[in-house]
Amino acid sequence: MQIRDDIYTRQLGREKRAREEAERLLEQKSRELYKQANERNRALTALAESEERYRLIVELSPDAILIESEGKIVFVNHTARLLFKESQSRTLKGLSVLDITAPQNRAQATEVIKTLIQGADPRQTEEFALRLDGSLVEVSVRRAFVIFAGQPAIQMVVRDISVRKTLEKQLAYQATHDTLTGVSNRAALFAHLSKSLAEAKNLGQPVWVAFLDLDRFKQINDRFGHRVGDQLLIIVTERLTHVLRRTDMLGRFGGDEFVIVLQGCPTGNTTSDLFERVMASIREPITIDSNTLHVGCSIGVATYPGDGETPDELLANADAAMYRAKQSGRNRCQFYNSDIQEQLVKRTRIEMGLVDILDRGELFIEYQPQVSIETGMVSGAEALLRWEHPELGSLTPNEFIPIAEESSTINSIGAWVVRNACNQIAQWEREGLGKLRVAVNLSARQLPELSLSSIVQSALISSGLAPDRLDLELTETLMMSDIKLTQETLLELKQQGVQISVDDFGTGYSSLVYLQTLPLSSLKIDKQFIQALQNDTKHTSNKIVITLIKLAHSLKLRVVAEGVETQSQLHFLRQHGCDEIQGYLCSPPLRAADFSAFMKNHQPQAWC
Ligand code: C2E
Ligand code: CA
Ligand code: CA
Repeated sequence: MQIRDDIYTRQLGREKRAREEAERLLEQKSRELYKQANERNRALTALAESEERYRLIVELSPDAILIESEGKIVFVNHTARLLFKESQSRTLKGLSVLDITAPQNRAQATEVIKTLIQGADPRQTEEFALRLDGSLVEVSVRRAFVIFAGQPAIQMVVRDISVRKTLEKQLAYQATHDTLTGVSNRAALFAHLSKSLAEAKNLGQPVWVAFLDLDRFKQINDRFGHRVGDQLLIIVTERLTHVLRRTDMLGRFGGDEFVIVLQGCPTGNTTSDLFERVMASIREPITIDSNTLHVGCSIGVATYPGDGETPDELLANADAAMYRAKQSGRNRCQFYNSDIQEQLVKRTRIEMGLVDILDRGELFIEYQPQVSIETGMVSGAEALLRWEHPELGSLTPNEFIPIAEESSTINSIGAWVVRNACNQIAQWEREGLGKLRVAVNLSARQLPELSLSSIVQSALISSGLAPDRLDLELTETLMMSDIKLTQETLLELKQQGVQISVDDFGTGYSSLVYLQTLPLSSLKIDKQFIQALQNDTKHTSNKIVITLIKLAHSLKLRVVAEGVETQSQLHFLRQHGCDEIQGYLCSPPLRAADFSAFMKNHQPQAWC
């Protein structure tokens, strides 16, 4: 019994120790597990925290972020939902990346994704994204290979670049277009012309380059201001665009200069017709605000390959031809020829000489007598300007006045002529040559000149000439180009007592209604009508002259016939009541000393 108790007691002791050992181990294990659990928890928390941070960054990203895995979009951020116009009925998740790529960019996107899966570096492309509402938006897309939720995936970072692209397009437009008229600018024109010439070379075809310059644009700008000038350019551009064919190129070269490039015209004739239509379209009156403007244009044309092979050569020669067109009386089209180059050199010399023309002392005036048909007496003289150029010789006004009109030089020249002519006539009167009237030609550019009436006044005062002995000649085209200005200026001059004549009558667009409203003294019948007079009274020119004389008399104006060269012309004019004649029949224009001699020898009775 005692033995069994001992065994039992030892067994219990062993069991107790084993239990205690197990409890200790259990406690140790629990502690370890607890420690491990704690560590795992901390890691999980950290992971959760970093995922949250990532989610926040991705969510708040201004770029759209999308992830596609196994052919389906599985993740999109807020910006992506906005950019792709997600709505309750249309969601991005579940679609494929190609579903939101514009059809034209799908092949490229597929290719990029393929290379990424094969291990290529991330790729950035610019393409159009197709939004869920069907609209397209220009985007930059960066695609990269990533692991998402343990799966291989493609991450796309998409940025809307439509604003930048619009700006880029605007900049490109501004770089190639004229801001005022919207047609090509000088740079684009050059580029187009180079391309046209290369094409023409291959096809063996001609190219026409035309330089178009508006006539008297500067005067309109001076008179009405730049706003009206700008409006005028816009209207002219519209008219040109309307007349030209779609294949023709129109560009603004600067100021009032346009360039037209024609390619693939079958013949030179067709080209001429086109330029005729261009000129006709510009000649149509233009109304801006309440002003009706009459504008013409001069065109110079150079042809590839005959007149040049490069854009520079062709433009320079077209420009030279345009100047020739201006010189030959404006409002015409001139094709380039070799004489024009010579003319250009001459023109440059004239331009250079005009800079200090009054200081050079090379200008002088010739006087051409005007003789009364009734009395045979010399009633006056027309002052005709001359320039004795040291290299070019004696220049007629037609050779340099149009050039002087392009700058303000014409105003100082004009003032010089008025002053000198008044002084000369006053001096002749003092010398006993009689009371002569002097006719001075006014240029278009002088009319808007504010100081015109003060120039006239000071010339009259300093010479001591009576105002009614000064006769200002203006062409009817000039008068009609701005009737309001003409009326104002002429009235002011008339109030000073000065006489006013219409020069070259019958050659311009005369408006009889307006003629009546102007304070005129005389009409000068243009020499072309006088020179066309025939023996037959029923001939058209004869009828025109008869009508012009009657018209002038009905308006109570004196009539002067200019360019009278023959006795039969004089006879005809006398028969029909013309008042005065001027022309080689009496005398060519004379230097002052010769005029004075002419007056002394003049016998009135020989003319009656
Ligand atoms: P215009 O006013 O019509 O002047 C008449 C022109 O006819 C003058 O040419 C004169 O020399 C010419 N002529 C005169 N008699 C005859 C004739 O019997 N037969 C022919 N065939 N011609 C004759 P010019 O002197 O070369 O002047 C040309 C134009 O220059 C003038 O035409 C006038 O518009 C302009 N001009 C002349 N002097 C001035 C000036 O001081 N200022 C301005 N702005 N223009 C002027
Ligand atoms: Ca004249
Ligand atoms: Ca004349």
